[in-house]
Amino acid sequence: MKRPARILVVNDDGINAPGLDALAAVAAEIGDEVWVVAPETDQSGVSHSVSLNDPLRLRRIGERRFAVHGTPTDCVIMGARHLMKEVPPDLVLSGFNGGQNAAEDVVYSGTVAGAVEGAVLGIPAIALSQSIRRETPPGTMFACAAERGAEVIWKILEAGIGRGVLVNVNFPACAPGEVEGIAVTRQGRRPQDFVGIEQRHDGRNRPYYWVTYGPRYAEAEEGTDLWALQRRQISITPLRVDLTDEARLASLADALASKVG
Ligand code: MN
Repeated sequence: MKRPARILVVNDDGINAPGLDALAAVAAEIGDEVWVVAPETDQSGVSHSVSLNDPLRLRRIGERRFAVHGTPTDCVIMGARHLMKEVPPDLVLSGFNGGQNAAEDVVYSGTVAGAVEGAVLGIPAIALSQSIRRETPPGTMFACAAERGAEVIWKILEAGIGRGVLVNVNFPACAPGEVEGIAVTRQGRRPQDFVGIEQRHDGRNRPYYWVTYGPRYAEAEEGTDLWALQRRQISITPLRVDLTDEARLASLADALASKVG
């Protein structure tokens, strides 16, 4: 496997997030040239939004470091199709997200979406997230991802990432020395009562609302990303841009044909 020449690093936590610099440092171990293009503000949970109704403001911070007033998807397009247009990136890395992106997190995640956009543009792409426990001291939050990141990325590149595929990596919430190996997993499932709305009241006693997430811990199915993280394993899940449910395709076509026919 050839050393990547140009790596595009994006995230969804924003240009000032500590996980971004941790990933940029790992990218510098892997590739020759690292370009950082990240959102001005925290874009966690925006999924694959693209800014179609507002202009994108681009702020140059360093020679190869930029902030975009937009989403992670905007950042990947700005990097690959504008800033690095002459010689496009041969790898997109999205992260390190502060917090895991496992199970249904994947469909909300701006971090995963950054990698999806890489795959859409035909560039090998990896999303990387660090699971965090509430009691983890802020200074050591990304220790696991920072120490094991280069090795994991390199292993994925050597195995090869197919076209239309991106790889979702989650690092467990533990010290680097406590990691129990690497597991290739499938996307897990959370309990359905996980998501809720919390009502609060403002200074004039009018209600307002926050989307809330229930306890992070749930019994995980074997072989899933959640299961690996609970066992302190680094979880690696291949995801597809094509969301077609192949198994349902034929039976749905049959069912509708008989109705129409
Ligand atoms: Mn985030």
